[in-house]
Amino acid sequence: MPLVVTGSIGIDTIHTPTQVAEAVMGGSCSYFAAAASFLHQPVRMVAAVGEDWPAAHADMLGRFRVDLDGLERRSGSKTFTWTGRYFDNMNRRETVEVNLGVLAEQLPPMPAAYRDSRYVFLANTDPGSQMSFLEQLPHRKLAVADTMDLWITTQREALERLLQAIHGLILNDSESFLLTEISNPITAGRRIRETYDLDFVVVKKGEHGSLLLHRDGVAALPAFPAETVVDPTGAGDTFAGGFMGYLASADRVDFEAMQQAMAWGTVISSFTIERFALERLTELSLDQIRERLQAFARIVRVGC
Ligand code: AMP
Repeated sequence: MPLVVTGSIGIDTIHTPTQVAEAVMGGSCSYFAAAASFLHQPVRMVAAVGEDWPAAHADMLGRFRVDLDGLERRSGSKTFTWTGRYFDNMNRRETVEVNLGVLAEQLPPMPAAYRDSRYVFLANTDPGSQMSFLEQLPHRKLAVADTMDLWITTQREALERLLQAIHGLILNDSESFLLTEISNPITAGRRIRETYDLDFVVVKKGEHGSLLLHRDGVAALPAFPAETVVDPTGAGDTFAGGFMGYLASADRVDFEAMQQAMAWGTVISSFTIERFALERLTELSLDQIRERLQAFARIVRVGC
């Protein structure tokens, strides 16, 4: 079933405790689309970049067979840029600098052929754009959003309107805390689900895995035990890509399918963090993902 995403396409600079990657391909939309494309093709993308967007980044998205008909290179505008820094053992990150550039402008028009999209992912971008994008998709069966501290603190009202219009939200534990002031991620996720009458909330807890608070039950998965963590950037977006890519390809939105979808998201994101930016995903195959998924199934097996 057709899957469409909007969000940021960024030029990232990433500082880890030992290395720096300058001006690499990033953005919520890019990571999402790359990850989802392992399970569902083509992923439709609506996003804008500035005239400074490197041609090599377009080639990279092309390699994932992302449908770029909805991508606009806007002359006179600048691409969104983000600089982040990781501390200690990569568990903590701060945003050093963010320049919204084209993200502060209007979204490009939705290609007419995308209007029949059934699965919709609103990757991180401003909630007003997420909402206007959603409203152009009358045939949506599953609309899921992600959000971030910047939008929770600066555009809370718009975000709350969006939450009332979607089926599910994926966010991390620090964001669920910011939204509810509840530190227990299970209670926070449940509160968000109930407050906005969502079908489900997924709370990601970094190396501690993820929780699914669904109308029909609760599920929890650990992260894939990873020894190589070079750059955690995009782990959240690639988790969402695996999650939505699985649901769109199976055309299922039930609780059991979401539990399965979380496993795909978990495994794909475990590859993302092994190298900087999208480097690892560009060299990944579906067979490698499947193999790790089987290893993951053995790791989490509960015999009772
Ligand atoms: P993640 O590590 O999954 O949270 O995603 C990191 C990506 O999100 C980076 O590639 C950034 O370019 C992008 N990003 C960072 N801040 C924002 C923001 N406020 N809105 C949209 N995208 C963002």
